[in-house]
Amino acid sequence: MLDSLKKIFSSEEETPVSSTGKPDISREKSAELYEKAKSFFPGGVNSPVRAFRSVFGTPLFIEKGDGCFLWDADGNQFIDFCCSWGPLILGHNHPKIREKVTEVMQRGLSFGAPTALENELAELILKNNKLIEKIRFVSSGTEAVMSAIRLARGYTKRNKILKFEGCYHGHVDSLLVKAGSGLVTFGETSSAGVPQSFAEETIVVPLNDRDAVGQAFAQFEGQIAAVIIEGVPANNGLLIQEKEFIQYLREVTSKHQTLLIFDEVITGFRLGFEGAARYYDIKPDIITYGKILGGGMPVGAYGASSEIMSSISPEGPVYQAGTLSGNPVAMAAGIAQITELLKSGFYKDLNKKAQEFTESIQRFVSARNYKLKVYSVGSIFWFAFTDKDITSAADIDPQSMEKFKLFHRELLNRGIYFGPSGYEVGFVSAAHSKIELEKAKRAIIESLDIVFRHTSKSS
Ligand SMILES: *Cc1c(COP(=O)(O)O)cnc(C)c1O
Repeated sequence: MLDSLKKIFSSEEETPVSSTGKPDISREKSAELYEKAKSFFPGGVNSPVRAFRSVFGTPLFIEKGDGCFLWDADGNQFIDFCCSWGPLILGHNHPKIREKVTEVMQRGLSFGAPTALENELAELILKNNKLIEKIRFVSSGTEAVMSAIRLARGYTKRNKILKFEGCYHGHVDSLLVKAGSGLVTFGETSSAGVPQSFAEETIVVPLNDRDAVGQAFAQFEGQIAAVIIEGVPANNGLLIQEKEFIQYLREVTSKHQTLLIFDEVITGFRLGFEGAARYYDIKPDIITYGKILGGGMPVGAYGASSEIMSSISPEGPVYQAGTLSGNPVAMAAGIAQITELLKSGFYKDLNKKAQEFTESIQRFVSARNYKLKVYSVGSIFWFAFTDKDITSAADIDPQSMEKFKLFHRELLNRGIYFGPSGYEVGFVSAAHSKIELEKAKRAIIESLDIVFRHTSKSS
């Protein structure tokens, strides 16, 4: 999503160049719908990265999804690796989720009063997640993070938050900040409408840099309420951190009575049932969830120890509420999805399948000497058009996105759907069978051949 922030104000129109591979798929209906959408919504969309600003053509308007497949308004079929940006770990239109949602819907859509469904989902999570003791449901990842930050500030009675350059935490005001110049900086706003005074409560440091974190703690002694990091940073490329770095964050925060927040909106229920925290075997103080938790419906959550959570209203002084929080239909989707994830071997099978897929592509790429690395963790993957190691935002060469742009077009022409930005990761779902992964692999390889032939000629 960070890429979308950079592109949000850019109005450059893409002029497709002649195709380097297969002829472009028809996008007539999508283009028509997009024209109409532009008269209703800013940029024609309700979330910026959907607008295809960093790839060729107009956005595809989706008609339906089933399993690992998507169909657009022009009837084109795709194997989908965007998976609604992560939530669809079981694929599209999973029968168990559809049935549960349909059943619960018959009794009404919202009551603004507690239901047993909230208990049911909470129990499924808390019984199988030893990192948190209490949870609060909200309606998006952004809301979860916003609430977690308020909780950390209320609990510690401190104001400053330390975040990392290249981590995205939703469109929370105080986190829509980027690093200024220098190792440890006050944030500079990365969106209009965020007062500089808000950004000044946020300290931004590079990922994978202990010295910068140490320096920030020395400089702002006793002022930092929380350090927030994505479980595995996966919104600005896939920036896999060394375990020692995460361990250091745990140590330094404990030493300074600062809370450690893992934003697991992408990694939660993805790397394993207990997310990145279990993957690193590190216990954060607060964890945020979203995406997978709602099974495709809008659900977010934050959780912590009972002691920290007792600061939340009505038990404590930190206010947080929601008209549609714990919505029964959304809870139903979450219950059905989480129940599937708890089946024995679920993550082992999924992660193995994803690993074989990414490794086979990496082998091909290495054999051809292409400047490309396939980063992956669990069932998350990212194609980095570089031969350098990438562990922080600054390692990514913006020029490499030109290659992604060509790649994306060739993929669409071969029936493969990736999120429309080279900064975004892809996901393998349980619905991707070996047959489809093999088909996808062949299309990816063909596309890479074209991208590298094309760019080596033109450079
Ligand atoms: C997607 C995401 C968010 C924002 O969640 P929304 O549901 O889009 O508001 C926050 N943090 C991380 C790590 C995310 O991946």
